[in-house]
Amino acid sequence: MRMVDLIEKKRDGYELSKEEINFMIENYTKGIIPDYQMSAMTMAIFFRGMNDIESTNLAIAMLNSGDQMDLSEIEGVKVDKHSTGGVGDKTSLVLAPMVASLGINFAKMSGRGLGHTGGTLDKLESIPGFNINVSDEDFLNQVKKIGLAIVGQTGNLTPADKKLYALRDVTATVNAIPLIASSIMSKKLASGANAICLDVKVGSGAFMKNVDEATKLAELMVKIGSNAGRKVTAILTDMDEPLGKAINTLKGNGPKDLTDLCLEIGAYLVMDANKANSFEEAKALLKKQIENGKAFNKLVEMVEAQGGNSDYIKNPLLWTNAKEVIEIKSSKAGYVTYINALEIGISSMLLGGGRETITDKIDPSVGVILNKKIDDYVLEGEVLAYLHTNGKNTLQATEKVFNAFEINEKPIGKQLILKVIR
Ligand code: URA
Repeated sequence: MRMVDLIEKKRDGYELSKEEINFMIENYTKGIIPDYQMSAMTMAIFFRGMNDIESTNLAIAMLNSGDQMDLSEIEGVKVDKHSTGGVGDKTSLVLAPMVASLGINFAKMSGRGLGHTGGTLDKLESIPGFNINVSDEDFLNQVKKIGLAIVGQTGNLTPADKKLYALRDVTATVNAIPLIASSIMSKKLASGANAICLDVKVGSGAFMKNVDEATKLAELMVKIGSNAGRKVTAILTDMDEPLGKAINTLKGNGPKDLTDLCLEIGAYLVMDANKANSFEEAKALLKKQIENGKAFNKLVEMVEAQGGNSDYIKNPLLWTNAKEVIEIKSSKAGYVTYINALEIGISSMLLGGGRETITDKIDPSVGVILNKKIDDYVLEGEVLAYLHTNGKNTLQATEKVFNAFEINEKPIGKQLILKVIR
């Protein structure tokens, strides 16, 4: 088999067989197929697409390119969650302890943030002492003991995806549905959970800009997962506004958007773990775990198990503050009808709260805190957002945050959860 023939076949719009896809991924991972040929192939896939069978075969070939986590030693259903990338998205930090506090095993391998998106690992690492580099054995033992661990991806999981993702990033081929679906699903399958909930973001800050595209991506990922014997739910959520605060949410006084999203995603996982007979029952169980403090205590337990100082969770005032807090005020009265999440994310990155390259260091004291959300009424001169800054790019970030808000006469009646695919 020759790679050049496979490129030609895809360029002309034909279907690649399972054997051809396996050949391509195996030899690309080994370094036998060079980047320039793989770039031509990803561009051909970008323009010609792949059908569901090809996409599933691609995901499985990438899954088989490395090791897989074996969670079979852990009794019961193991659940996991993935978000396709968000601004200020703290879902995992709330959802995982909430679900785990019901006795459901939550074994999560997470990623770092790049560009304007926030990474769960970076948020956890801002807790002094918290360790994300956990060996497979310690990861398994922690899940067995407390039912919850969130760690960095270990060892040699999906090396084909690592190589391919880096290549796509510099060849303008990230935004192709078969490539995104196989990339995400190969990693989720390799992490070993039986039930997976995917939070597919839609909107200006997300890969998928509209509901039709996001539906295609979600349906494909659900299909790939169920073909591999896993229970998969995809929830399409509106990303045109960053989500809110994590610790307050676990204590029952967080913003409505984050609370609603975690209850919704959590409820599907609770049902998949056979702990409730209906969606409403599952939601009620989760709400109770917030009210009785068990969800919050589970987060404390996890932080301690991974070496972190849980005083920072119990008393967030311990966190170092930025040198200056700037109030961004509204120039007119009206309803907030749009917040450009991408611009908010970029502002945070400019302040030093994100990375441009994977080796950049994050300053956890800086960032943007929204005081108004979509559909809130705001008076002229009222604060829209607070900018926490240590002096880096402050002017530029201030301007961006101010311009990210649109204010109009009427509210829009925003819906956070757009669609559920199971
Ligand atoms: N996230 C991934 O892990 N892979 C993609 O291709 C896109 C988003």
